[in-house]
Amino acid sequence: MTLQRPASLTDDFLRGLVARVPSSDGGTWKLTEVYTGELLVELPQSTPADIEQAFVTARAAQVEWAKRPLKQRLEVFKRAHTLFLDRAQTTTDLIQAESGKNRRMAIEETCDPPMVMSHYLKRAPKLLAPVKRGGPVPFLTTSTEIRQPKGVVGIIAPWNFPFATGISDSISALMAGNAIVLKPDNKTALSPLYGVQLLEEAGLPKGLFQVICGEGPDVGPTLIDNANYVMFTGSTATGRVIGERAGRNLIGCCLELGGKNPMIVLDDADLDDVVQGAIFGAFGNTGQICMHIERMYLPESRYAEFRDAFVKATEALSIGAAYDFGPDMGSLVSPDHMERVKSHVDDAVAKGATVLTGGKPRPDLGPAFFEPTILEGVTKDMLAGVTETFGPVVALHSYRTVDEAVELANDTDYGLNASVWGGDVATACQVGKRLESGNVNVNDILATAFASKGTPSGGVKQSGVGARHGDQGILKYTDVQQLAVLKKQVMGARPGQDYDEYVKGMIGGLKMMRKTGIR
Ligand code: NAD
Repeated sequence: MTLQRPASLTDDFLRGLVARVPSSDGGTWKLTEVYTGELLVELPQSTPADIEQAFVTARAAQVEWAKRPLKQRLEVFKRAHTLFLDRAQTTTDLIQAESGKNRRMAIEETCDPPMVMSHYLKRAPKLLAPVKRGGPVPFLTTSTEIRQPKGVVGIIAPWNFPFATGISDSISALMAGNAIVLKPDNKTALSPLYGVQLLEEAGLPKGLFQVICGEGPDVGPTLIDNANYVMFTGSTATGRVIGERAGRNLIGCCLELGGKNPMIVLDDADLDDVVQGAIFGAFGNTGQICMHIERMYLPESRYAEFRDAFVKATEALSIGAAYDFGPDMGSLVSPDHMERVKSHVDDAVAKGATVLTGGKPRPDLGPAFFEPTILEGVTKDMLAGVTETFGPVVALHSYRTVDEAVELANDTDYGLNASVWGGDVATACQVGKRLESGNVNVNDILATAFASKGTPSGGVKQSGVGARHGDQGILKYTDVQQLAVLKKQVMGARPGQDYDEYVKGMIGGLKMMRKTGIR
């Protein structure tokens, strides 16, 4: 296949990016262009000794970084915000080449770190400032809550949004005074490496942000054992492994995991809006968004109408490999992942599901392309009925009552995202509040929730622990230190004072403080 690679992706540029990855034994991994399967660059692989050295370097840099006043640290991110947006086309080229997604999704991904920077540039000064809480004895004691950086934060990122998860989750940690050791997925290490280069161009001290590479089980243990906190995004199965190890080491972790997200359509929903939403929800990023939808619940009274319109719109989608805005949908990330998605569809069909459209690989377009697929008749004895498929595959179900729709939507171990569509927003919100899900979008699939950087976003049930964004998105990267000061020795009886007198005074004082509202 002949596909013109973007002019920005020269061999020198790619080799320069991966030169940042420490590898003392010279081992490499073949990082390929997903659309063609051709080699892009040999990615160095880090040994446990390399990872330990990365932590030593990061830790030394962190001590100096944390000494800088917050205002100075934030200056770096003001410059980075502009730089990230000015270089968005190059970042987009990298994301497309390493992940195979279409250009629309890649360029949208480049906007995430600047949005996160913008939010915390405003919010960090307030959140990281010391807070005077007042001590037990008015005027004579003080207690202050101080936010100290954790130290070196280990970040483990997946391949589906490598730039957003690798870089955005680092920003608030860096602002809070931490260093970073990031482990991206081997397949998608280029865009986060470029993100680190941009941060350094904006003034981030060299050494503060380390990137190590390798297969997860090979490098994960050393990374977790050296980190002061772990931020993980990936599958529920791996999240369990990471959480167990962090627990043994008594360090904190945030786990952003998988989903099997439902979309409930109420009977007063607008048909065109629903179809447009479902197209993005099921096939955006080739169905590889943690918050995308895999289960759609339609009212029985309008089932045929929604189904037919959705199938028609799906069949009109263009699929293909291109570094321009032509194709509506790109490739899956790898032939291996394509086989996994295919196995879910094949299993469903073998057990009685019907393919309404799609259902097949498209080797004529590239090694990992798969058609946008709509299934009917999916049940819980099928892989696609219970576990995350993470591809362009969605199952349609009908319901008779809203209670039934809520029950079906909640009938899953996951709880990451849900979407409710209806003409009456208040009713749709009431339905949304009944869903066991960390995020609920009304009349949208996911963008409104994910782009609301002021609100924490995380999963419940098997979809995660903790959250990114919002106040906790930066506070989780800090330890609370209480600084308590006693200005005059007033605790306990004075020398020679009768103890009964002292107790009487103390009890009277407590009553008075309660009455006057002082404490
Ligand atoms: P994955 O769990 O296989 O891998 C994620 C990362 O963990 C990769 O960098 C991988 O190399 C690493 N890893 C694997 N085993 C490891 C181990 N034992 N120790 C340390 N690191 C290890 O997930 P994936 O297939 O790359 O990503 C897709 C999954 O991520 C989906 O389940 C998706 O829903 C989820 N995801 C969740 C969110 C969210 O915010 N909740 C966002 C994006 C993706």
